[in-house]
Amino acid sequence: MNKFYITTPLYYVNSKPHIGHSYTNIAVDTVSRFYRMKGYDVFFMTGTDEHGEKIEKATLAQGFKAGEEKRFVDDIVPVFKELWQRLGIEYDHFIRTTNDDHIKAVQAVLDKLYKDGKIYKKIYKGWFCTPCETFWSEAQSDDGFCPDCKRRLEKLDEENYFFKISEYQQWLIDHINSNADFIKPDFRRNEVLGFLREPLQDLCISRSKARMSWGIEVPFDKNFVTYVWFDALINYISGIGYPDDVSRMNKYWPADFHIIGKDILRHHAVYWPIMLHALGLKAPRTIFAHGWWIVKGEKMSKSRGNIVDPVALIDKYGIDTYRYFLLR
Ligand SMILES: [Zn+2]
Repeated sequence: MNKFYITTPLYYVNSKPHIGHSYTNIAVDTVSRFYRMKGYDVFFMTGTDEHGEKIEKATLAQGFKAGEEKRFVDDIVPVFKELWQRLGIEYDHFIRTTNDDHIKAVQAVLDKLYKDGKIYKKIYKGWFCTPCETFWSEAQSDDGFCPDCKRRLEKLDEENYFFKISEYQQWLIDHINSNADFIKPDFRRNEVLGFLREPLQDLCISRSKARMSWGIEVPFDKNFVTYVWFDALINYISGIGYPDDVSRMNKYWPADFHIIGKDILRHHAVYWPIMLHALGLKAPRTIFAHGWWIVKGEKMSKSRGNIVDPVALIDKYGIDTYRYFLLR
């Protein structure tokens, strides 16, 4: 029997789901149903991304105390699960990055890369965008503003751990050029190749606990937690049993289809395949990046206050109408 492993991104639980999240899950659910009808052994995974500075801040903003992040995320995860149930999303596994087996997998990845000499420590001087949870170099920063979201960046000058992604730049370019279906649609592949024309900077993969402690502890240095993106991307393998359940990993990996929004293309099409390659694992078959739901020309987001609530639309028009409208 042919297998088909398909994923949504993990949703960040600093706020409730809006129609953008539901669009991605409806698209993945529809593709999953199609493959099930064709007789494939489909594994459809979705879930939630629960670490990082934004969650730490949202916890306090919602009236919880420092250190109560787990209570905050435990409250909001059911809101996502209820919406998926309401929308008829038939996933096979819901992964949370605060699950013990995910935490173990992230630490196993860090340990392996550290022992293989792929992770080293140095002073990081540069910028960090908290809303995007993304590091930017001096050259990439827009005079202290985020080149992606245009918000003010935070200046960082601290010791951190780095992953030697620069060693894999040519491998990645060759992989993209020899696998036409690896990044879809084609204009997104060209975007990634454009980004790869500049030399890759090694990826900062830690945050000092003194600054931000809500994350997975770096196994070889308890003063640090793992950078939230490095943590979250590993869900695609931890969710199918990495590193212990070898037979399940062999059955489902590589993923056939990662569907994501265009804003997280670089994390998925640059960092993620390099992480996998460094671990001796295959790259996913296809990464498909869709566009955004926009309101009056702007991306829908909580901080912009232009959210459309899926539940209100379902109540008014019904589930099939809603699913059809978004996909159409
Ligand atoms: Zn930003």
